[in-house]
Amino acid sequence: MNIVWFKRDLRAYDHEPLRQAIKSGDPILCLFVFEPALISADTFDRLHRGFIVDCLRDLHASLIQLGLSLHVRHGSMPDTLEQIAADYGKISTLRSHEETGEMITYVRDRAVRTWCRQHAVEWVETPQNGVIRGPYSRDGWSRKWLDRMSAAPIELPKAPGLPCSGRAVAGPGFPALTGLDVLPPGRSAVQRGGTDAGLSLLASFLNDRGLEYRKGMSSPATAWSACSRLSPYIAWGAISLKDIYQRTRQRQQQLRADKQRKAGWMQSLSSFQGRLRWHCHFIQKLEDEPELEFQNMCRIYDGMREDSFQTSLFDAWCAGQTGYPMVDACMRALQQHGWLNFRMRAMLVSFASYHLWLDWRPTARFLARHFLDYEPGIHYTQFQMQSGVTGINSVRIYSPAKQLVDHDPTGEFVRRYVPELAAVPDTHIAEPHRMSHDEQVKTGCLIGKSYPAPIVNHQEAIAAAKREVYARRRGPEAQAECQRVYERHGSRRRPNNRR
Ligand SMILES: Cc1cc2nc3c(=O)[nH]c(=O)nc-3n(C[C@H](O)[C@H](O)[C@H](O)COP(=O)(O)OP(=O)(O)OC[C@H]3O[C@@H](n4cnc5c(N)ncnc54)[C@H](O)[C@@H]3O)c2cc1C
Repeated sequence: MNIVWFKRDLRAYDHEPLRQAIKSGDPILCLFVFEPALISADTFDRLHRGFIVDCLRDLHASLIQLGLSLHVRHGSMPDTLEQIAADYGKISTLRSHEETGEMITYVRDRAVRTWCRQHAVEWVETPQNGVIRGPYSRDGWSRKWLDRMSAAPIELPKAPGLPCSGRAVAGPGFPALTGLDVLPPGRSAVQRGGTDAGLSLLASFLNDRGLEYRKGMSSPATAWSACSRLSPYIAWGAISLKDIYQRTRQRQQQLRADKQRKAGWMQSLSSFQGRLRWHCHFIQKLEDEPELEFQNMCRIYDGMREDSFQTSLFDAWCAGQTGYPMVDACMRALQQHGWLNFRMRAMLVSFASYHLWLDWRPTARFLARHFLDYEPGIHYTQFQMQSGVTGINSVRIYSPAKQLVDHDPTGEFVRRYVPELAAVPDTHIAEPHRMSHDEQVKTGCLIGKSYPAPIVNHQEAIAAAKREVYARRRGPEAQAECQRVYERHGSRRRPNNRR
């Protein structure tokens, strides 16, 4: 019997482990396991579970079309394998995609490997994106990424008269999963999971919404529709990165051939393609150095913030009660929808790390719980970058007031998520604490009562932060450490995409 183990690859197309299992001609058991260690982690939320359950329903329906079905279990993976072997007999092969996850999944994989060795089960893992496992060099990485993305789509083998040549292992059927998908109150406006939903989102992006991508991606008011919104589908594998890449290429070719094409499309799609590569570029760093979940990429920053953690500042940031309207609106929007655009994520982290001088580890875990698209490889490396501890990226400190003026000039977004500011005029929406007492009374927004005063002073906080960060960069030893990081993780030249 072959087991196809689904994890963050919840789809039944462009799926190499599934293809191999079907091709083997042996009976197939398709498996998804809710593992207690993973679903009780402080980075996992009901939000994720709801999305996964949607994906599982879709996956099961697609597997039925192939003559297969999905077995959903609850337990540790080695225990589950033990149980399956007891129920159905000898497992010959376990097939799955490679996963670059948190330390918990890394440890889990080691336990699975040991179990497989003890039970003479062959575990075959295959790549599912452009991330390279094992020793590799950053030089030439982009070319390899492009080769993977350009490879022919994986076709599932067909047998005459049958949907596919797979032979399903009869199982207990697909559990109802009803109690599992209840979203917490206030989270109704969260994306639903599943391959169909992901593919239709991709189609609407490539044919319609994508035109506004370049122009609209930075503003939290427009990004909701201008960005692809594909990240949760990619993170949970409901659609494949290669498929997205190839459909985008086709659309680019079509637009090139179309003399009537609207200006803006080509730039937008080329920016989008670039980000698909970033996706793997960032995950590659965690694949290469799993400790990045816990430790600074550049060790000269060790000890810089760890002992200065102020719980009251952290709590205010988490609750969207910092007195900085753009920060508060973004945090509250995120907690309602499970998504935020890149620039606003970066601003939230910059504010926590520089203004509030909070260590990135607890803030990263908090946001992981709230990002529906939580992808450890991108998340921790982006967090470190936006917190200035990579040693290879320039220090980027966002001014929340400037972000509001630049990206939400009418305050439409901020007022939607911070209703306390509803009557504050545009002239004061970025810094409501600057209103006179009379204006506060007139607008019903009493600073310190109905809306907090800024919890830190912007200018003073960032001046102190810059002093600390730059002081650590001085000297040949610090430079050598930054060079070491560049050699290991630094981005190299872009490949020529026009193949
Ligand atoms: C602190 C911080 C944490 C982040 N954590 C995550 C995370 O856990 N999961 C996640 O998918 N993205 C993360 N991002 C990256 C980025 O913000 C999201 O990928 C993007 O906002 C998702 O929306 P979208 O699918 O509409 O993106 P689009 O702009 O439409 O991009 C398409 C895809 O490209 C990839 N991508 C886009 N931007 C980036 C980027 N800067 N780095 C790497 N890949 C990118 C994503 O897979 C995304 O789905 C993080 C960014 C920051 C600053």
